[in-house]
Amino acid sequence: MRTTRPRLRRFGALAATALAASLVLAACGDDDGDDGGSGSEPTADAADFPEGSTMAELAEAGEITVGTKFDQPLFGLVGPDGTPVGFDVEIAKMIAGELGISEDNINWVETVSANREPFIEDGQVDIVVATYTINDERKQLVDFAGPYFNAGQTIMVLESNSDINGPDDLAGRNVCSVEGSTPAENIRTNYPEAVLFPTGAYSDCLEPLRNGQVDAVTTDNVILSGFVDQNPGEFKLVGDTFTEEPYGIGLALGDTEFRNWINDVLEASYEDGRWAEAWEETAGAVLETPDPPQVDRY
Ligand code: GLU
Repeated sequence: MRTTRPRLRRFGALAATALAASLVLAACGDDDGDDGGSGSEPTADAADFPEGSTMAELAEAGEITVGTKFDQPLFGLVGPDGTPVGFDVEIAKMIAGELGISEDNINWVETVSANREPFIEDGQVDIVVATYTINDERKQLVDFAGPYFNAGQTIMVLESNSDINGPDDLAGRNVCSVEGSTPAENIRTNYPEAVLFPTGAYSDCLEPLRNGQVDAVTTDNVILSGFVDQNPGEFKLVGDTFTEEPYGIGLALGDTEFRNWINDVLEASYEDGRWAEAWEETAGAVLETPDPPQVDRY
């Protein structure tokens, strides 16, 4: 019979996976008692996890279904081969890797802002890593590991615009944001004089901004920075951030064991540099590398 392994042992497995991932020969030391593995293949298997846990089930299945964004440069953007790239995608790959699941065995599902809770609740995805703000309202429906990044809401306008400099300038303006997002909710609640133009995904806001149908787009700074970078000379960000948007990994409500385990994986990656490396390979092309946030084990 298998019992829950002590914390240190789990970090042994994490370290082994990190070694394998960096293509260090698996023939060198194997202090976690497993067979090691070869090449860049992840080394964990179901036996590394408590029986009946979500970790054991996923490791046993050898695949995981991840909800992420498909239209957001820097965090989750589908490339020509149909696979998403970005910081969220790297975080998901790291979690999968710790379950012994290689990136080829990740099923990527597009989650837009409004379908993240329902997709988790009805089991269409195992986890959501999708610029997903942790908040109390969402915690009624899903659990969150993390945060693994702290964003904040801001505003994007046309490069030529000089009259919108902050949220108070949005009164009487058409403002695009996405249904089911915290920035859209914030505009509805706290800036009721702004005229909200809700869309299904952030990329749907770009054409309306170009053709003057809307005056501004609002959401998290890092999402908007991705659009500014992707469309040189067209758009700019204005003003400071005016909310806090801690990004969490969404999972089924009540699966505390899985949540704690993902938090362990995140913390280990903060310490051993894999989190910073994931950032530098993705969002880091445009944004400075921040310090990793403190995990909130609520
Ligand atoms: N982080 C915010 C949210 O979770 C905005 C970004 C998004 O919609 O994905 O609602």
